[in-house]
Amino acid sequence: MVTGGAGFLGSHLCEKLISLGHEVLCVDNFYTGTKSNLGALLECSRFELLRHDVTFPLYVEVDQIFNLACPASPVHYQYDPVQTTKTSVHGSINMLGLAKRVKATILQASTSEVYGDPEVHPQPEDYWGRVNPIGPRSCYDEGKRCAETLFFDYRRQHKLSIKVARIFNTYGPRMKPNDGRVVSNFIVQALSNRPIAIYGDGSQTRSFCYVDDLIDGLIRLMDTPDEVTGPINLGNPTEFTIMELAELVIELTGSRSAIEFKPLPADDPRQRQPDITRARETLAWSPSVPLRDGLIKTIAHFEDLLRESAVA
Ligand code: NAD
Ligand code: UDP
Ligand code: UDP
Repeated sequence: MVTGGAGFLGSHLCEKLISLGHEVLCVDNFYTGTKSNLGALLECSRFELLRHDVTFPLYVEVDQIFNLACPASPVHYQYDPVQTTKTSVHGSINMLGLAKRVKATILQASTSEVYGDPEVHPQPEDYWGRVNPIGPRSCYDEGKRCAETLFFDYRRQHKLSIKVARIFNTYGPRMKPNDGRVVSNFIVQALSNRPIAIYGDGSQTRSFCYVDDLIDGLIRLMDTPDEVTGPINLGNPTEFTIMELAELVIELTGSRSAIEFKPLPADDPRQRQPDITRARETLAWSPSVPLRDGLIKTIAHFEDLLRESAVA
């Protein structure tokens, strides 16, 4: 079962699991996900789609649960912040209760946001983070932190088989033009020759992982022995400033876009880079797609979208 399976990462995960021969139940309330993300999977007899909100109980029979349900872009998770916290907290309780009843292994899509605006760089898993509990990002950050607490308490209290992945910024085809995250925003702006809007002065950093690498890491983590619980950082350790990203997108699209500066949102982390030593050692995993190559594929996806909307 993949919760949030109609979203950006979830749809790539469903596709990969089907290609590996699994039966997949995709559970999604279509808050940010869409049926169109699932494409040909909808015709596959081993694939099933269920419209359901994970904040409500769910009784199904499954043997692995990938819990990805939760809006991931700041624009979307801040639109209804109470629902965001509910999705992480109530949603995790329900999925953990389900995992407990059917004795399934359950993997949580946690996030680098649990480190907040970090004062340790790069971030190893044993760093506890620096998160504002009452700011505009808190519904997401604290919801995900509480979900991790629930996962480890279900492990200690009920002996559940759990896996916690801390995912760092991931990009690729199937991000929505209105997703609001930086890679999709910059590509859409560049392709339409509109100004590229950098928040702040562009000196803040992120490390961008291509979606195929990330999905490979999630599946490797799910397939580890019971004693491997994580948390495990999954992300690309190559760090870029947001200015460097803007310049690369302009170069690769051949855009005439200018760069403009807008105010930095509250609590925007200054730096972010995963320490992936644990993933290398435990999963024999490290990302293989350089930013330039991943951006070329992602730009091609947005070019197709723009062509389709022009035809329509
Ligand atoms: P996304 O918004 O594309 O996908 C989230 C999916 O969850 C959507 O299909 C949405 O409809 C669904 N959903 C939301 N609330 C739900 C609910 N209450 N019940 C059922 N379904 C619900 O985002 P994404 O980038 O694919 O992220 C997937 C997961 O990975 C999220 O949990 C996110 O926090 C985590 N993550 C993503 C990134 C990233 O860079 N993409 C980084 C860190 C963590
Ligand atoms: N739950 C669920 N599906 C199941 C089993 C449980 O959605 O197959 C939900 C149930 O509604 C409960 C939650 O998961 O509120 C936590 O379950 P657990 O067994 O841990 O706690 P309890 O039922 O004792 O509250
Ligand atoms: N950002 C930007 N322009 C945009 C969107 C984002 O400059 O159109 C910046 C944002 O302020 C942040 C970084 O890019 O510093 C990454 O933002 P995103 O929302 O993609 O991810 P997150 O902040 O959750 O890592």
